[in-house]
Amino acid sequence: MVINKFLACNICDTRYRVRWEVGRNDATLYFKCPCCGVSIRGNSSQGDEPETIVNAHPVNEKRYDYILELSTDFLVNKMHKANDERFDDLRTPFLRTFFFDEEKIKLFSNIMYFANNLEKYKNEIDVVTSLFQHRSYAHLRKKMTEEDNPYINLCKKRIDPYVFKSNIDFLMGVHQYSVSLIENILTEKYVIQVSKYIKDIVACFLGKESDEIRKFVLLLADQKVFDEVDKKYSTLVNNFFEQYRALVPIFVSRIFPKNVDETQGITTLDSEILLNLYKKCYEFIGEFVIVVIGLNNIATRSKLDAFKDGEHDFLNHISSIWSKYNKVTQGIVPEELFSEPFINCVDNVIRNSEAHFNYEMDPMTQMITFKDKNKTKKLYLVDFAKDTLNIFYSATVLWELSYQLHKKYRIICLGERPAFGHKMAEGRKYKWN
Ligand SMILES: [Zn+2]
Repeated sequence: MVINKFLACNICDTRYRVRWEVGRNDATLYFKCPCCGVSIRGNSSQGDEPETIVNAHPVNEKRYDYILELSTDFLVNKMHKANDERFDDLRTPFLRTFFFDEEKIKLFSNIMYFANNLEKYKNEIDVVTSLFQHRSYAHLRKKMTEEDNPYINLCKKRIDPYVFKSNIDFLMGVHQYSVSLIENILTEKYVIQVSKYIKDIVACFLGKESDEIRKFVLLLADQKVFDEVDKKYSTLVNNFFEQYRALVPIFVSRIFPKNVDETQGITTLDSEILLNLYKKCYEFIGEFVIVVIGLNNIATRSKLDAFKDGEHDFLNHISSIWSKYNKVTQGIVPEELFSEPFINCVDNVIRNSEAHFNYEMDPMTQMITFKDKNKTKKLYLVDFAKDTLNIFYSATVLWELSYQLHKKYRIICLGERPAFGHKMAEGRKYKWN
């Protein structure tokens, strides 16, 4: 079912018919007027909530120059002229996208559930991370055992035993709870891939407990890297959760990928906000990529200070030689063990175009052109959103690696022993710190 709304550009009086598929009652709306170039943006509503649309206003007259589809859940036809025959198909975005498949419908309802309960959960990772870092264990215990929280219940289902006996258990609990929330961005499949990568590589490699690993985790703890990674990653996730509803059509298109073609676009998402998210992921990876470089040095050359081009003091070398971008592009050697999720994860043209405000989007095709000096890169908005989720995925793998090393640090340097998820052998007792 579709509701028609009519808008007029405040500047040039170009008229729009907005075909809004009934979904959520409120939606963010972003597009550019193809005639005068101003951005028309804001919140639109099908109910009684006030509308806040900048640079356009609703009109009663049903005359229109352009047709715009709006859907809170699915990709839509890109904006087109009223008589454009390419868009004769009057099926709704739902009918063009959806097909029955039990497993996919389950993923779809997870996304919808999270979008509808966003206010309740969007700050959770920040809260539990802060409680852990401030050692507020009593409050944290209460939080981690909430009974009406479906994401805590998911953790309880996954972790056996789900118990908190020492600091490291809280660290692990916070991480597990965070993962259960982040899955709403990455999809379960992504998380399964990450866990496999972490299990295969980290577990087998770190099992050796070499002196170099000890040296590395001590250095990271001394530099407060573990806490900083967790703190900044929780802020990063928060930024993504703030845009979660605008991103829903992208999440859903990953579940039902069949019908996506170049006529399909998105009208809930602001390209500038997206670019900003991309930049934040890039900054995060650039700041903490030392975690990956150190692991690669130890895994490939058995020594923290052994870089591909010879031996150097680890921290000095990284901070003096490379800029943030170079740390990622040159510091990560593609064929080394931990590199895979970070190869080509950052695009410098996109990154620099953000810094210099040098990008533009065609309002009709939604093609974004990024410019950096003589280089240009072109991407559809939908594809750029997917790239942004990919760089977020790389940031998440980095966060996961840091967590694995943090855990290792607490076990081998502080002597903590986890009970969380670790079934004890009969009759054996751990000594707690
Ligand atoms: Zn206009």
